Amino acid sequence: MVTKTPKFFYLLSFVKSIYWEFKSYFVPKKVVYKIEGHCKRCGKCCNYMYSYDTYTEKEFKFMQFLFPKYKRFYIKGRDDFGNLIFACKYLTKEGLCSQYNKRLEMCKRYPVRILKFKPILHEGCGFKVIEKDFLSYLK
Ligand code: SF4
Ligand code: SF4
Repeated sequence: MVTKTPKFFYLLSFVKSIYWEFKSYFVPKKVVYKIEGHCKRCGKCCNYMYSYDTYTEKEFKFMQFLFPKYKRFYIKGRDDFGNLIFACKYLTKEGLCSQYNKRLEMCKRYPVRILKFKPILHEGCGFKVIEKDFLSYLK
């Protein structure tokens, strides 16, 4: 019987991370959501984040090792379903970004307009997601 060593899992994890990072640059243009509104600078989106491909602390640490730009994030807890919740250490008490000029691309693009699924914004966020209905697609 062949047993898989931890090295094998690290390698697999490494390949998976590269794959998802690479894929994130080519998010398929499945649905375009119209985003209306403006940022109220409440800071909630920097203080309560999810990652759709990081489930454990180990995976998160490994991700930070591979992509040091994610070292700004830390785990602040888990939700009722056990999903990790992240926050950014550059968020000030006033809810502002202390590294605004050096913020990540993902910060600049938030909230993203093109996604495979409908984005869920924080309660009280100044933006609104407007879903295009069937008739507007025909027009
Ligand atoms: S949650 Fe919305 S309103 Fe608050 S900082 Fe983020 S984008 Fe701005
Ligand atoms: S770098 Fe700034 S904008 Fe990006 S998550 Fe951190 S505090 Fe928010």
